[in-house]
Order: sequence, then structure tokens, then C-alpha cells
Amino acid sequence: MSLSPSHHLFGPDSLDDYVAAMRASVDHLATTVRHVDGPATGTSPEQAAKLVTDVDLDRPVGDLGAALAEMSRVYLDDAVWFHEPSYAAHLNPPVVVPALAAEVFVSAVNSSMDTFDQSVGGTFVERHLVDWTCARIGFGPGADGVFTSGGSASNLQALHLARDAALAGPAAGHLHRLRVLASADGHFSVQKAARLLGLGADAVLAVPIDADRRLDPVALERMLAGLGDVGLVPMAVVATAGTTDFGAIDPLPAVADACAAHGTWMHVDAAYGGGLLVSPALRHRLDGIERADSVTVDYHKTWFQPVSSSALLVREKARLTHTAWHADYLNPADDDRPHQVDKSLQTTRRFDALKLWLTLRTLGPDLIGSHLEAVVDLATRSHRHVLAHPDLEPALAPHLSTLVFRFRPPSLTEDDADELVPRIRQTLYDRGQALVAATKVDGRDFLKLTLLNPAATDADVTGVLDLVGAVGRELLATGSRWSA
Ligand SMILES: *Cc1c(COP(=O)(O)O)cnc(C)c1O
Repeated sequence: MSLSPSHHLFGPDSLDDYVAAMRASVDHLATTVRHVDGPATGTSPEQAAKLVTDVDLDRPVGDLGAALAEMSRVYLDDAVWFHEPSYAAHLNPPVVVPALAAEVFVSAVNSSMDTFDQSVGGTFVERHLVDWTCARIGFGPGADGVFTSGGSASNLQALHLARDAALAGPAAGHLHRLRVLASADGHFSVQKAARLLGLGADAVLAVPIDADRRLDPVALERMLAGLGDVGLVPMAVVATAGTTDFGAIDPLPAVADACAAHGTWMHVDAAYGGGLLVSPALRHRLDGIERADSVTVDYHKTWFQPVSSSALLVREKARLTHTAWHADYLNPADDDRPHQVDKSLQTTRRFDALKLWLTLRTLGPDLIGSHLEAVVDLATRSHRHVLAHPDLEPALAPHLSTLVFRFRPPSLTEDDADELVPRIRQTLYDRGQALVAATKVDGRDFLKLTLLNPAATDADVTGVLDLVGAVGRELLATGSRWSA
């Protein structure tokens, strides 16, 4: 690549180099992916660190081809591939191609979403998608929202708005009396947000759950009523629409009733379940979400978008003004142009919305929804395989697309089953055969499959389940603890 600035800075004089670099990169990726034969290679943290830290950043290799080859050694060769059907660990979907095409424009044009004069049409692309998502939620015309970097950021901003709304009322000056109520299966970003907002993580109270691990609305009502008696203020209730481990959807209409009765902010964390908004068959599971004050949706989970792509949506536009701050150089108070920075915790911000835009304009919402339906059905069928497997035991029937289960032949004690969970998981990673996650259920260790690949077949998933069974048996047979 030429050292003349006009040849490595994107612009009209570098277009030949730009196109060549993009072609080389895309070809490099395609060649790599063609040769992938498993979700991971099983590299250890030590091996991975050494490959990277051996690189002397003061000595460039000089050309993109050599840098790409080096990048393969430090990164791509051992990357974890979410498109592989035996990847079933976390909430990472394979991504849709139109969104990857959008990335070309997002990074090269490099619009920044803070002000109109840095994004022009981009501002309205984002707003149109926000309005469309709000309409899917069932919010009225007064709704609004903003793209964020992820569900954690969306939850933080939602609770920030809820806090400032509470402090604008009778609770003014009583930050330490504010409490947030969420089920114990709610996402940990709620605790983090409470800490960042000055409430302390202990301000988040765990609402009991029912046998299906959904928030118990009777217990919620009792807690809301009880807080006032001891001088505490329920600042917000966080209902989860798709818990990270179980996919459980809290009873949204009952939560909405309780929030309405106590004048409490209702936030719905639909980071996982938000994809149901585009599923004709399953949309009803989100009924009641339209009564929320705010909603988190992660497009980079069940909408098959590349990271980052998330949004915070609010029922009343005016609520978002708690986020606004006016800077003379950027968005002065008397400037009536549309500036997204007024709604965002970020200033400079990627035009992530373009990925969802090209996805919807190319594939349409129904196709995205049908992909989610496919993985929900896959989870239901795979659950039957767990039930039928002599050595596997499910924790719960799946609500969405996760399966929580463990290796536990009838003769194995609970303690021994606990001990095997991390070892099975590590063995599968070491061998690069399958990537599964782990979690705890009522203090016991369980394995978790998160199914987000609509191209995965029943055989792919039962293959992973049978592998868990086989590795469990193998460890039982060879483990010193059991063979002694
Ligand atoms: C994934 C998840 C989050 C966090 O979202 P990020 O995009 O990872 O920040 C929040 N809530 C729930 C229920 C989630 O599953």
C-alpha cells in the first residue's frame, strides 16, 4: 500500500487500493471460513495470549496481505465460529449477509449519529427504525428511542430515565430510598446499572419466581405494597422477556397492572425475546409489552445482526429528555435540528441502524421472525431428546431457544454431577467439538445450549447432546475420583 496519504486514506484517490483491500479481505475471510471444520480449535488462554503478544507493534509488516496472514495466526485460525451448528453456548447468532454488506458503508462513510450535520439521512434511517420497532411493540405515536451498543447499555439508560423520573417526583432528594425490582433470573446488567446510578447493587430486590421461572406477580404486588411501609420507593420494575438462561417471559400484563397501581416505571428487558416482535406465530407471547415505559431490544441476538445493534425504546418521547445535555459547539439548546445525541449516552456513535435497515429492506421482517421460530421449535424437539436420553436430565422445558440440562446417570450423586459439568464443558472446548455454556440452577451446576442457528438441524443438536453424554461417561470411566 502506498505511503502517500491519498492512497491509504479512504477517498477518491484511494479507490483502487480500497477496492483491492476489500476484495483481498473478503477473499481471505471466505477462504478461511471454507476450511473451518468446528466451532473452535480449543486453544488455551496462554497459547492465544502468546501468539498475540509476540507481535512487535513497532515493526509493521508493511502490506495488507502480510498483515492479514499474521492476523490469521493471532486471531482467525482459532476464532470461535457462531455459524457452526455445534456452537451452542451464548446468545450469539449467525449473522445475515445484508447486514454485513451494510458494514461496508457503516465503516467507510463513517457517519456519526450524534448530530444531523454528521449523518443527515442516517438520522432518519435510525429514527424510522426506532418508530417501526415502537409500532411493533404497540407504543402509540408519542414513542421514541435510540440505538445503543447493547442490552446492558439499553438497560442502564432505561434505569437512568426511571431514576430521574422518580427523583423528579415525591422521592426528590432520596436517592438511597429508591429500589428496583426484578426477578432473580433478570440480567446482571440491572445490578450493574443500579451501581452506576448511585443506588448500589443492593438496591435491586429479587422478586420470587414460579416453577417455570417467571416472575411471580402476586409476590411483586406484595413487595411493591410493602416498600412504602418502610419508607422505600419502588423506582422501577424490570420484567424480563426472555431470561438469558431459560428464555422465560415474565407475565407482562400482570406486571403492568402492578406498576400502574403503584405508579412505578415498568421496564421490559427484551434483549433476548425482542425477536418475537417479528414472529407472527409467537408475537402474542409479548402481549402487555406495549404497557411498558421502556423496552430493551437486542437486534444482535434474535434478529441475527452483527454486534453492536440494540435499542432502547420508550413509550413517551418526553421521558428521553433526562438524557439530553446541550453543548454550545454541538447541539446548543436553541438549535432545532434533529440531533440524536440528545437521546443517547454516547456522543460519537456508529451508524449501526444501517445494518438492520438493509436486512429489513432485503429479507423483510417475516424471514427474521421465521428464523427465530425455527430455533424455538428446534429447542422443543431437542428437549425431547434430553428427556429420552438415559444419562441427561433437563432443568426445565424450554421457553425460547435455550436448553438447560445436566449429565446425571441415575447412579450419580448431585455433588458428582456438579463436578462433572465444568469438566465436560472444558473437554468439549479442548477438543473443539462443541461449545456449550454452563449455569447454576438453585445452586446446582447445569449445562446450557443456546440455540440461535436456524440452519442447525435436529441431528446437529442431538449430536451435541449425545457428545455431552459420551464425554460424561468417558470422564466417569477415567476420572481418578471415580475410578479409585
Ligand atoms: C444479553 C442480555 C443482556 C445484555 O445485552 P448485551 O447486548 O450483551 O449488553 C441484557 N438482558 C438480557 C435478558 C440478555 O439476555
